[in-house]
Amino acid sequence: MAKGSVQSKLSPSAIRRPLLRWFEREARDLPWRRTRDPYAIWVSEIMLQQTRVPAAVPYYERFVRRFPTVHTLAKAPLDSVLKLWEGLGYYSRARNLHRAAREIITRFGGQIPETRAELLSLPGIGAYTAGAISSIAFGRREPLVDGNVTRVLCRVFRVRRNPKEAAVQKKLWSLAEELLPSARPGDFNQALMELGSEVCLPRNPLCDICPLRKVCLARLHGEQARLPVRPRTKPIPCHTVVVGVIERNGRILIDKRRSEGLLGGLWEFPGGKKRSGESLEEALHREVLEEIGIRIRVGGPVATIDHAYSHFRVRLHAFRCTYASGTPQCFGCDAVKWVRPGDLRRYAFPAANKKIIQILQTSRRCGSAQS
Ligand code: SF4
Repeated sequence: MAKGSVQSKLSPSAIRRPLLRWFEREARDLPWRRTRDPYAIWVSEIMLQQTRVPAAVPYYERFVRRFPTVHTLAKAPLDSVLKLWEGLGYYSRARNLHRAAREIITRFGGQIPETRAELLSLPGIGAYTAGAISSIAFGRREPLVDGNVTRVLCRVFRVRRNPKEAAVQKKLWSLAEELLPSARPGDFNQALMELGSEVCLPRNPLCDICPLRKVCLARLHGEQARLPVRPRTKPIPCHTVVVGVIERNGRILIDKRRSEGLLGGLWEFPGGKKRSGESLEEALHREVLEEIGIRIRVGGPVATIDHAYSHFRVRLHAFRCTYASGTPQCFGCDAVKWVRPGDLRRYAFPAANKKIIQILQTSRRCGSAQS
């Protein structure tokens, strides 16, 4: 790691001035940059935690149109918030946003708090998001470090240790704080992130057009490609999951996942993980019985869908099934419902289940066109 303070190695102004000038010229025109409304900035920051800018923009625009204030969001049922979030993934962000909106009403009189400490007390707001809201919306001198800022700082200051180590994280936060100007701290933070996103790319950084090329220690030592240090990653596990599209009297059975945990609060087709030694059909019989307490007849396959989550992948096999016996109950879920096929679109489903719905609807349309 580069030793010593920022002042002893690189003057903060040698970084601030060219970076801010570059940001004034090159900043992308993004919808959340046209406002200082802390609510809008908060929503955008939560969306951008796990989503790239081009994918987040249409979701952001729909979200603030439907829920333009913290009050409208707090009053909305969670189901409608999840429905609007459908497809964006990482649904705990939406659940926490909704919970935090309600806390802002009850604990802060409907005003989004300004300070880092108060922001950190809200669900879903960590150190990065607190720094972003406090500096960008309120102009407070609060640093932030995300993946883009980590990459820029590791290269500019030639940090040659794994940035995930606690001591290195601490160092990066203190570098980010030392660099922050008292005037325009929000612009400076956004400029650092923008540089990481648009110029200081993970592979092949565009050093020739970088405003920091004259001071960047990684560039001066020809080490851009080696920094930040990447720890060895473990292979990602892959699970086999089986679900049933269970029909009875023209309706399909869906269940609502428990509100906490992965995909919490979303609807899905009943099913679960296959165990070793089980056939797909055996796994489906067992999972449906354990989850909702009914017996089914398993028919032909509907689709096989591969889907990647952040820490694992799934291969999901969907089968057409018919109801055989029992009363649907919630043993492993929050609710069960028989719904008409045409009403499935009203519920928020995870991406892999959405693909099954599309396939069902296409086959229904083809079926009715042929008949
Ligand atoms: S000079 Fe290159 S490596 Fe250094 S900050 Fe700029 S783009 Fe990144």
